[in-house]
Amino acid sequence: MQKKKIPIRKCLGCNIQKPKRELIRIVKAPDIKNEQGEIIESGEISLDLRGKKNGRGAYICFDINCLRSVRKSRRLEKTFSCKIPEDIYDNLEKELSAE
Ligand SMILES: [Zn+2]
Repeated sequence: MQKKKIPIRKCLGCNIQKPKRELIRIVKAPDIKNEQGEIIESGEISLDLRGKKNGRGAYICFDINCLRSVRKSRRLEKTFSCKIPEDIYDNLEKELSAE
């Protein structure tokens, strides 16, 4: 039997590569564009705890320190080139402090 390859992704906070399932996925839904290809509405940012949502993903560890570092450096904004709603960070913090 062939061994299944584990997808590896990099955490935006600490830049360490880890198996995808050990990271939280933050996803940006595809932008809504008009017929000219201009962006009418920027895709929504959300947490993707099941890894099933469509769109562009970014990953961080289940570690509040990584989250704080990402929040402070605004790295998510740079990755998605758009503003990240504060409640995304708040939800993430809640998620990570729950453990
Ligand atoms: Zn990390």
